Amino acid sequence: MDKIIFLIIICFSFLIFFSTITCKKLNTNIKVRGIMFFVPFLLCIIPFVFNEDVYLSEMVYMAEVVLMISISISLICKFRKNTYRCVQVIIFIGTILLATILYKIQLIGFFNISNIIKNIFILILISFNIILVKKDEKIFWQALVNLLISYVLIIFKDIIIFSYISTLFKFMAYFYFYMYFFKRINIKDKNKEKILSNKSSKLEFEKQLFHMKLHNERLLNKAQKDALTQAYNKTTILDIIGKSIKLEKRFSVLMYDIDNFKKINDVHGHITGDKAIKNLAYISKRSIRDVDSLGRYGGDEFIIVLPDISHKGATYVAERIRQNVSCDSNPRFTISIGISSYPHDGRTVDELIQVADKGLYMSKEKGKNAVSHGGAI
Ligand code: GH3
Ligand code: MG
Repeated sequence: MDKIIFLIIICFSFLIFFSTITCKKLNTNIKVRGIMFFVPFLLCIIPFVFNEDVYLSEMVYMAEVVLMISISISLICKFRKNTYRCVQVIIFIGTILLATILYKIQLIGFFNISNIIKNIFILILISFNIILVKKDEKIFWQALVNLLISYVLIIFKDIIIFSYISTLFKFMAYFYFYMYFFKRINIKDKNKEKILSNKSSKLEFEKQLFHMKLHNERLLNKAQKDALTQAYNKTTILDIIGKSIKLEKRFSVLMYDIDNFKKINDVHGHITGDKAIKNLAYISKRSIRDVDSLGRYGGDEFIIVLPDISHKGATYVAERIRQNVSCDSNPRFTISIGISSYPHDGRTVDELIQVADKGLYMSKEKGKNAVSHGGAI
């Protein structure tokens, strides 16, 4: 019977000790309590290793007394992370010393005390721990109660059935001890998984948000831009003029279209016509600043808004675009440009468009491939 108890203690103590020492995220107090099972493990393994004639039951008794005292200390004291290493060393060295002493003296002396007194002593220790253990640590409490019952039954160990039942309770006690630590380690692992899954769902969420933003940007782009040229569409470019007026700062508007575009369409076909429109947008974009806005007003007609530019500056820009187009366009074509400037030529969108359109008409009248200011000056 003693050998069975030995095996129970060695197996469970080792499992508890090993699993708590390898679990990094465990609470320090629980970890300290877990490594205290090194005491029964080492004390019980000595007779197996040395195969000496040591009284097995006395060794078990000694191991459990030391375990109960250690658990009392762990229940009374609060351990911090920085004291954990220190406690670990004390337990290891203390247990090895104790084991050596017990082995050397062959358990003489101390164990001459009567069994009744020894039993009462450990029963007091276990009861003390039962009182100390917190209500929420039910499994640990159950383990201690089972251990207590096993020691009560040992008092009647002469009746063989009581000795069996006592062993059973001892097994239950160590099983509960193990369950107590096993559950805590598992909860930690589950928490880890939860954190990991939270992290991955956060990442997933951010990814979806990013895609939504991208999608919205694309939609906005689609709504604001002309599909063929990627310049702003009519509504947007007129909006930009409206917003520029609200700023009450000078700016100019260029309005231009391709000369004899109908002829390009007729001679080369509509696909080449489209190419010419695209090409005009490209050359225009290349000829202006980032702060300037290019819009397709309709057909072969474009508008450019030039912030902080007077009609004089606008004439210079228009001339540059006209020249670039006449030199680089493919198929080769020319453009006629009309200019209007805020606030000189008008204070509304319509007025500014009208003056620019008049300038465009004037350029056509001049014989095309020209720049004209539609205003009073
Ligand atoms: P002008 O020099 O006086 O401007 O003469 P024009 O031949 O260029 O005449 P206008 O500007 O009025 O011609 C516009 C033509 O552009 C009419 C239409 O068939 C053509 N058009 C309008 N939109 C498109 C388009 O998206 N693609 C093509 N290929 N042609 C278009
Ligand atoms: Mg035209």
